[in-house]
Amino acid sequence: MERIVYVNGDYVPEVDAKVSVFDRGFLMADGVYEVTSVLDGKLIDFDGHAKRLVRSLRELEMKAPCSEADLLKIHRELVKRNAVTEGLVYLQVTRGVADRDFAYPKDARSTLVMFTQTKTLIDNPVAKTGIKVISIDDIRWGRRDIKTVQLLYPSMGKMMAKAAGADDAWMVEDGKVTEGTSNNAYIVKNGKIVTRHLSNEILHGITRAAVLRVAKEAGIAFEERAFTIEEAKAADEAFFTSASAFVMPVVEIDKTPVGAGVPGPVTLRLREVYLEEARKAAV
Ligand code: PMP
Repeated sequence: MERIVYVNGDYVPEVDAKVSVFDRGFLMADGVYEVTSVLDGKLIDFDGHAKRLVRSLRELEMKAPCSEADLLKIHRELVKRNAVTEGLVYLQVTRGVADRDFAYPKDARSTLVMFTQTKTLIDNPVAKTGIKVISIDDIRWGRRDIKTVQLLYPSMGKMMAKAAGADDAWMVEDGKVTEGTSNNAYIVKNGKIVTRHLSNEILHGITRAAVLRVAKEAGIAFEERAFTIEEAKAADEAFFTSASAFVMPVVEIDKTPVGAGVPGPVTLRLREVYLEEARKAAV
């Protein structure tokens, strides 16, 4: 089945889903995005993603393409038209079409593109085995709190990980882990979760916020502070979170097994309670 894609107000077959070569998203990576997962045909953490989108747009002085209520309608319509029961909705807003210039155009109309991907998320086999990460230098720009489409370094990081026989990379700056290439990083020591505090140095993960909320409710202690790769290697457990991976065990860092080298009990419990809560709250 060919997908139906949303482009600036229209639902079109994917072959007809096109934007201009003058779109600033294409020319300058002048755009932001969100990924919302779908379970049981419903949107997970939609409100968080919609709010973060508004924040990303505001930080870049970009116009919102529509209201949050309209965004929800479009998400639901796409999920319905593409019969997605499990997978994700990708959304991208760019500053729009303008003659190429570094300065922001004054009157460009923002571009809004959305599409779905059907994917197995819950029974993702790596959630049972865990994944291997390598550490790499974090050489990204200083506004990682804005979810922009400039994803070349994270892509390079994944390729470096693959070349080293691993699955993903955790990025390190000034001796401390910032985050994964497309996820937030955590360790567990003596039953307590440690994850980096929020700042401009990391993306404020929507799954991170939900997982910490759920941890609090479940009586699992956590601390928000930076940690080193050495501390991570010596931890009992490690994991990462993202909208499409939920809570994902990390079992090896730079070839060193973490704890017993298998997904740990705190990680697995968090995945379970997060998914339970997220499904209950899905819209
Ligand atoms: N950090 C980075 C760099 C990311 O790209 C992502 C996911 N896009 C995350 C963290 C996780 O954020 P979320 O839980 O909102 O998917």
